[in-house]
Amino acid sequence: SHRDLEQQLAQLDGRSYSAYKSLKGTYTFPDFDLTLAHIQGDPFAAPSRVSIWISHGQAQFPAIYWHDQTRQATLADFLHRHILDVIPQIQQRRGSGKSGCLMVAPTSQVVLARTAVQVTPEGIELRLGVGLPAFGRRIAGTAARDLLTQDLPKLVTTALQYQPAWQLAIEEHITTVENANALRAQLADHNLVAFIANDSILPRQSGVNPKPLSKAVPFKSPRALEVTLQAPHTGSITGLGVPAGVTLIVGGGYHGKSTVLKAIAHGVYNHIPGDGREQVVADAETVKIRAEDGRGVTGVDISPFIDRLPQGISTQAFSTINASGSTSQAANILEAMEAGARVLLIDEDTAATNLMIRDRNMQTLIAKEKEPITPFIDKVQQLYTDHGISTVLVMGGSGDYFEVADHVIALDNYMAHDVTAKAKAIATEYPSKRQGEGGQQFGTITQRCIQLPQFDHGRKPAKVKTQRLTTLTIGPEDIDLRGIEQLIEPNQTRAIAHAILTWQQQNRCHSLKNLLDDIMSWVKRQDFDALTPYPMNDLSEFRRHELAAIINRLRSLRVISDSEDSLPQ
Ligand code: ADP
Ligand code: MG
Repeated sequence: SHRDLEQQLAQLDGRSYSAYKSLKGTYTFPDFDLTLAHIQGDPFAAPSRVSIWISHGQAQFPAIYWHDQTRQATLADFLHRHILDVIPQIQQRRGSGKSGCLMVAPTSQVVLARTAVQVTPEGIELRLGVGLPAFGRRIAGTAARDLLTQDLPKLVTTALQYQPAWQLAIEEHITTVENANALRAQLADHNLVAFIANDSILPRQSGVNPKPLSKAVPFKSPRALEVTLQAPHTGSITGLGVPAGVTLIVGGGYHGKSTVLKAIAHGVYNHIPGDGREQVVADAETVKIRAEDGRGVTGVDISPFIDRLPQGISTQAFSTINASGSTSQAANILEAMEAGARVLLIDEDTAATNLMIRDRNMQTLIAKEKEPITPFIDKVQQLYTDHGISTVLVMGGSGDYFEVADHVIALDNYMAHDVTAKAKAIATEYPSKRQGEGGQQFGTITQRCIQLPQFDHGRKPAKVKTQRLTTLTIGPEDIDLRGIEQLIEPNQTRAIAHAILTWQQQNRCHSLKNLLDDIMSWVKRQDFDALTPYPMNDLSEFRRHELAAIINRLRSLRVISDSEDSLPQ
């Protein structure tokens, strides 16, 4: 019990730091259990891994706040944010190095299941890093006692035990998430791929500050595209329904086009109250596509877009260690389709021009036989008719797309207008006179059989390092994440890296799709511990598309064959 812990600490006082290791174990406090799962080697090392478990009987949150998996994750997200708020008041410096520090993984603007705080049908678990106190490299026993038997219980009473004052805020958290889920679930019935409620605030403070811009113009749907959906806790909500098919977003530079597209891209997540995008939702299988020159590509059939490369290089199982703008974007599209994308988002700002357009004059000058690329404009309708995949495209620079768009939305001073009829009239009056290229069908989707690299050598497990949302290192491999725009927090990246490491052992060939299904089934059950060698405190839920994106960027990935039929028995 906690009395034993106090006694042990008194005995350890003044001894060498490594003697702390003997504390490993679980201690019962009056209201909760404290587990010291892993003890740091010295006061400057990564903090010790500690978890606190409190039963619902002790935590006293009303059962309606945790009666299903969605509410459990939502309450956990709420508590997590509250814990991060109160830690600065509770944490005290208690000696050298990280002595006394309490480290809890950061959150982001969205509600996700995370390992730092988990609510289960039985109770609540908090996982944190704790810097066990030292003076120099000697155990500071009294400071450790205060930390473990005063600071931590104080954290429990201030952040893990229900206070009636939280009622409104918790309920707002829950209703916000449930409304968003309900809106997203209605998209398909209305033949929509995304929805932006009127009065949403889309722009952010800056590229590095995801809080809402303070003096933003609230979003207003054009009349013609306005739909009304039902939110269980709020009733009718009206806004822009982005229809399935091909939707073009046009408008002058700086009039807010990219901001709308980014909001849709993040609409696969549920935003926290106050974000401004609480009622902006997108089909869960929406993938932002961009050019990403320099990335590696392994065995992807990009022939729908690029065929007959110079020197007779095949594009049906295209591999490169250094893709061009157009080949990288083509690979991104085919890989997204392989992983099950239903909606593609493309912004001219980050697209390869030569993959997007090839106008009549260029077709006349450079014959099709001399151009390996079939531009997206000839494929975008086929994507929908052959594969049911919709596209939302920001394109302020070329009117050729008027001919292939089902809907055209113009942004003017951040205000959206439906200009479909006008654009179609222009396209009729001034036809592009382009030749259709690339045939009548889109072509087949890659289904590769892949083998994950072996990162662990012998008994040495590979190290995982994440740097913001820019780089992930797994063992010897650095993976550039900047092209994966729908990653939202490093907790996701870390979880994906560990999932990949866990599955590397199954040293056989998987269809990528089966591998994704397999890993995602654990994520869906929020069983993160199944993905990692030991319980971790800094992971969060991720989508299959970001998992696929990271696997696809592994330079040591191997593709065994491009067809599931030829899987070895
Ligand atoms: P575009 O893609 O059309 O060039 P952006 O979407 O990049 O334009 O937006 C340009 C600038 O306007 C950005 O700084 C963005 O934050 C800001 N902005 C976008 N939408 C709004 C809005 N509704 N209200 C105020 N500012 C906005
Ligand atoms: Mg832009």
